[in-house]
Amino acid sequence: MVAIVTIGVLSLQGAVSEHLASMNRVFQVEKQKGKAILVRQPQDIDVCDALIIPGGESTTISRILVNSGMHDVISERINQNNIAIMGTCAGCVLLAKELIDTKTDLRLLQAMDMQVERNAFGRQKESFEKSIAIKSFTTPYNAVFIRAPIITKVWGTCKVIATVGKEIVMTRQSNYLALSFHPELADDLRIHRYFLEML
Ligand code: GLN
Repeated sequence: MVAIVTIGVLSLQGAVSEHLASMNRVFQVEKQKGKAILVRQPQDIDVCDALIIPGGESTTISRILVNSGMHDVISERINQNNIAIMGTCAGCVLLAKELIDTKTDLRLLQAMDMQVERNAFGRQKESFEKSIAIKSFTTPYNAVFIRAPIITKVWGTCKVIATVGKEIVMTRQSNYLALSFHPELADDLRIHRYFLEML
């Protein structure tokens, strides 16, 4: 792990301040030198070792990323394999290589060998909490799902870390972590700690 890490939280839309607070609490608890900063423009990404892409609306976030030039900057860092990224909910969608809904005009970052379906849990369960088992966690994790995507397929070196029934809700591939739920809304820092340990 590098000595001092900077983790950028993409601050365009969605649950930004909660991610920032969770990450900074982990730095405090772990007594690790590091900081979480807000990322709003392309040059902010240059100082980041890692990036969190929060939930929100993936179509909107994608549009802002493309228009601001941040999409290209992040894609370049992915190509050079020198950034870690955690994508939660809408962020999970953006990390995928494929989207089931081809009608949606959305430019994916295509970092992970997985296919995603947006808003896939159906109307009556659009938002729910569920206790799930996460690989390498010794006790269950209470996950908050809000109009969550489902990871419908993985291939290559993309590994499934958690499911709800048969549905995949968390994956990891090298420096990338995708979750269809919202760890920043849980009073449980294990996911943010897990991400930090990946660096
Ligand atoms: N349904 C949203 C999307 O596909 C994601 C919802 C969320 O991030 N809470 O972009």
